[in-house]
Formats: sequence, C-alpha cells, structure tokens
Amino acid sequence: MTTENDSKQGLTRREFTGLAAGLTAAAVVSGLAGTAKAQQTLAFPALPYPEDALEPYISARTLSFHYGKHHRAYYDNTVKLLSGNPLAGQLLEKIIVESAKDQASPALFNNSAQLWNHTFYFQGMKKGGGGPAPGKIGEMINKSFGSMDNFHKEFVDAAMGQFGSGWAWLVADNGNLKVVKTPNAVNPLVAGQKPILTADVWEHAYYLDYQNRRKDYLEAFMDHLIDWDFAAKNLG
Ligand code: FE
Repeated sequence: MTTENDSKQGLTRREFTGLAAGLTAAAVVSGLAGTAKAQQTLAFPALPYPEDALEPYISARTLSFHYGKHHRAYYDNTVKLLSGNPLAGQLLEKIIVESAKDQASPALFNNSAQLWNHTFYFQGMKKGGGGPAPGKIGEMINKSFGSMDNFHKEFVDAAMGQFGSGWAWLVADNGNLKVVKTPNAVNPLVAGQKPILTADVWEHAYYLDYQNRRKDYLEAFMDHLIDWDFAAKNLG
C-alpha cells in the first residue's frame, strides 16, 4: 500500500512539474523542480492566451470574470488561508490532498482545489482546439471508450449529469482512461486518479454566453476548444 501511495504521489509530482515546464508563463507554483520539502511559493497563474482568444465559443467577458475574478479569488483565499497553516510551503497538490481530510474546516480544500482546477481547465483549452484527439491519446481514447464518438458522448453526459456545480474529467486510473464527474471543488487527485483534461460546469463558466444551455457550451468545448497537446502531456 505504501508503495502504491508513493507511486501515486510521484506521478502527481511529475505531472505537475511537466505542466509547469511546458507552460512556463502559466506556472502554478514556482520552484517545482525542488524537493517536496522545499518551500514553495504560490504564484497567480497567467492565462495562457488573451481573454478574447476563445471567442466565439467563450467570450472575453466570460473569461474576464472567470479568470480575473473567480480564479483570482480562489488564489487570494488560498494564500490567506495558508498563512500560519502547517501546510504553507507545500506543493499545491499536497495541500489539496491533505486539506481534503479536514472536513471540519473545508475552506482551504475548497479554495486550493479550485485554484488547481481552474488552472488545469484554462490550460486545457486553446483557439482552434477540439475535435478528435490525435496520436497516442487518440488511440488510448479509442481503446478505452470504443470510439471517439463514445468518449464525446460519455464526457458530455457526465458533465450534464453533474447536478449543480462541479467538473467533468478525463482521468487515467490504473492504466485506463475514464470519465468522471465531481461536485463543487472536488477533483480526481483526492481519489488517487490522474487528471488528463477537465470541463468546468459551474454556471459562471458559461452563463453569460449560453445562459442555461450547458449542453451547447459543452459541445463547443468538445468540438472547438480542447487542447489535445495539453491532454497528451498529462498522460506522462
Ligand atoms: Fe469556474
């Protein structure tokens, strides 16, 4: 059991290091190359594209609120809550996994997980993205889901089936790719799964552009926004 947990922690750390290395301007945490014991400084991650880059599928107005207000608030709250907390200076992923165990005071988990989730979501989109996954990740999706169309349907169904606020995810779990959904701030890291891609289904992600039409937002995400290069990097 210890070996398995260590392995999961190792994969997680490598994944996040790779993420920051590949997207320097959008690094979530500075100094990730250091050991887990090294003091880490949280930095507010840059948006990896201009706010109007995803139009007409996600407007600059949506991104200005979603990134500039919501994401910023999760970051500011996380920094505040870590002040004087024994988890201060740890990797963001460790903060998430450890704070998830403290159900009596969920604020640090909620804010630190939302900080991580949003960075992952914004990095997983690009102008001119979406459509069928290419290369190795495309082969893995075909193997795991039977076809790209099946994956598309399963992902959208999971995102539509998340009652209220939450997230839909493509994850790697014991060598297979799976689709999962999580409520509120919860992410697959707390279940020991490796996130590959995510769609935010909180209303703030789509309401200005699509109002109650969550499915239209999700279809745009699938067909026009997914950055498959980002997803492929997360396979490790
Ligand atoms: Fe959001």
